[in-house]
Amino acid sequence: MNQAQQKKMIGIDLGGTSIKFGLISPEGKILRKVKRKTPSTKNFEEILKLIVGEVEKILRDNRLTKEEIHGVGIGFPGVANGNGDVVFANNLYWENKPLQKSLEKELSLRVKVGNDASLAGFGEFHFGAMKNTRNALLLTLGTGLGAGVIINGKVFHGSHYLGTEIGHMIVGENFYNCNCGNNGCLETFASATALVKYATYLLDAGETSSLKKTLEKQQKPVTPQQIIDAARRHDEVAEKALKRFIHYLAIGLSNLINIFDPEVIALGGGLSESGDVFLEELRRLTKTHTYVKEQNPTKIVIAELKNDAGILGSAMFLLED
Ligand SMILES: [Zn+2]
Repeated sequence: MNQAQQKKMIGIDLGGTSIKFGLISPEGKILRKVKRKTPSTKNFEEILKLIVGEVEKILRDNRLTKEEIHGVGIGFPGVANGNGDVVFANNLYWENKPLQKSLEKELSLRVKVGNDASLAGFGEFHFGAMKNTRNALLLTLGTGLGAGVIINGKVFHGSHYLGTEIGHMIVGENFYNCNCGNNGCLETFASATALVKYATYLLDAGETSSLKKTLEKQQKPVTPQQIIDAARRHDEVAEKALKRFIHYLAIGLSNLINIFDPEVIALGGGLSESGDVFLEELRRLTKTHTYVKEQNPTKIVIAELKNDAGILGSAMFLLED
């Protein structure tokens, strides 16, 4: 270990609804965790101020000087360039924001900025489901479909920091447009949003389902969890929606396996917590689509670190040069 690797780090997972902070030991132990609500204005300066205040507080509370800290790693939901500027972040309504430079200036600490799913993947690579691999992928199945790609032990960003947008890989024609403006993106088939939209579509088409009662009672769309629960009870609409989700996710996974030949693909995000209802079928279907079929050694597993992947990966990102 060099000197930098013996210092504690701060990892931040900046999201549209919450900002998570972690004080991380050089061995990857979470020494302290703080969660704050993301200001509803999503105003850049306001969020910057909150982050600076919280980092200063963590240092104070733990009697740490800035010299004793290796820096601050931060993952956010969007595209950054190689200089740590936010090119855009849709959930935060940000465009061209100098996140890294502003934080460095305010904190007088080293700061490194990256995409949240990429850094969550780096967390799983160091401490979770992708440990002891060289090439591995994390897909986060949430509102959208995010991805972290690790190649040769490093976070892969692409040549212009525009890569690994696996959620926007086009795999078919959908009945609604993706929020990127295209039609047929993987995340419009294989995300929590897609699952809800398709179940709603079937309900609107008049298909019989126990979810109809749920829908009438709550007067708002059914939740992904309600669909999963209904599928467990063999509700036809829920099963159809889940089957479609698995079908397209398997296409996505087999494409990724054909391109990257990773050791592991880990599935994270809210939907992965219900992995027991779809993992086996997903593995089976994926194998039928991959180029090398039965003998394909890529493991498809559920991610392990849950909400801690982001803060751990963001911190470890500081050690990667
Ligand atoms: Zn898209």
